[in-house]
Amino acid sequence: MGPWDDPLYRTTRDLITRTAEQVGIDPNVGVRLAQPDRAIIVSIPLRRDNGDVEVYTGYRVQHNDTRGPCKGGIRFHPHVNLGEVTALATLMTFKCAVVGVPLGGAKGGISIDPSGLNRAEMQRLTRRYTTEIINFIGPGKDIPAPDMGTNPQVMAWIMDTFSMTSGYAVPGVVTGKPIELGGSQGRLQATGRGLVYTVTDAAEHIGLDLKGATAAIQGLGNVGYWAARRLAYRGTKIVAASDVTGAIYNPKGIDLKAAYVHMQKTGGLAGFEGAEPMDPDELLTMKVDVLIPAALGGVIDADIARKLQCRILAEGANGPVTSEGDAILRQRQDEIFVIPDLLANAGGVTVSYFEWVQGTQNFFWSATEVNKRLQTIMVTAFKEILKVHKNEGLDMRTAAMAVGMRRVSEAMLLRGLFP
Ligand code: NAD
Repeated sequence: MGPWDDPLYRTTRDLITRTAEQVGIDPNVGVRLAQPDRAIIVSIPLRRDNGDVEVYTGYRVQHNDTRGPCKGGIRFHPHVNLGEVTALATLMTFKCAVVGVPLGGAKGGISIDPSGLNRAEMQRLTRRYTTEIINFIGPGKDIPAPDMGTNPQVMAWIMDTFSMTSGYAVPGVVTGKPIELGGSQGRLQATGRGLVYTVTDAAEHIGLDLKGATAAIQGLGNVGYWAARRLAYRGTKIVAASDVTGAIYNPKGIDLKAAYVHMQKTGGLAGFEGAEPMDPDELLTMKVDVLIPAALGGVIDADIARKLQCRILAEGANGPVTSEGDAILRQRQDEIFVIPDLLANAGGVTVSYFEWVQGTQNFFWSATEVNKRLQTIMVTAFKEILKVHKNEGLDMRTAAMAVGMRRVSEAMLLRGLFP
């Protein structure tokens, strides 16, 4: 396992190995794809407002750029480590291939709890991290985006740091920027919206009417909130939701806009008056039609997988299911329809790709145009994966990986091994 050892990396490697064997990927390609192209570890000294200097560890891992420049989010979270970032970079390579965007996979992050930082400290941290990895990113090399703990403002600081160092504005260095700086319409909502396009197709496939159906969301952050909003728009009741501060339950459906106002005011869901508090540990295993884990990886292990009572599991988070949990889900395929992360949350990178294209052409699309193109890509990817699932007898996760791995593998064989 080498320096990459981490539960999420092991899960990702298992998936690569299993898929490569099952669908006959060239073993020379399979062995290469199990390791990243490049991994950068940096130290980030941060002067706190009280004058103390603290040093944090940051990473940028580029997994594979055979199909185009690397692309992937930046996460600020205490769990961030080399293995986790490598696993997430690896997933990005195949996710880009699944939705057919000409990009490779990367991921980055800092091992820090950002909730303890004020705005000025967050800005200094971001700018120093950017400076440490500046030679490795750029519009044609590697283009970061937001992930857990980061947002459009953080992207604006990265863009500014890169631009000030270059001597001219380089908006194409990041995606997920504020609209005023060349961000795309619809990027903020894209991952949640894209996820709901796949839930809609899955519901149709299994004969579930989303109108009147129930859903629970773990992690009412960017992905979870916009997925919830979109599902509610389709008539689904969001009966439970959680974030790092706690979980809430309302059998009549949570008023999401009111919950959002409460989160903005208080910093979390806890104490929201429009719902009952509930045990966050019970959210994943409650009886709902649609379950959306949209926070951390590795939350569905074998024990939880056995207890799941949902009909559709739509993976907003990256790597929410462990290898052991996945083995159980493969046995329960007839009861639970899994929309794997590679597909379910690919709307984010799809609209990031649109942002990159729009920025390169200096020609910006309307929200309607962005959403229409996003829907076409998500629906096509869903159909392609479902076809492999049905025709080749693979579970949905392996089917998605098979689609991604075949595309990357073909590209690698065409380019050949250098030197
Ligand atoms: P975010 O920081 O906006 O939201 C994360 C949410 O999870 C927050 O509400 C946080 O409070 C909550 N959370 C953290 N720990 C929790 C816990 N133990 N229990 C319950 N909730 C908890 O992050 P995000 O951008 O929405 O990302 C969420 C997940 O989606 C991550 O796995 C990320 O990699 C994945 N993802 C994000 C995007 C994107 O475009 N933002 C795209 C693809 C995948």
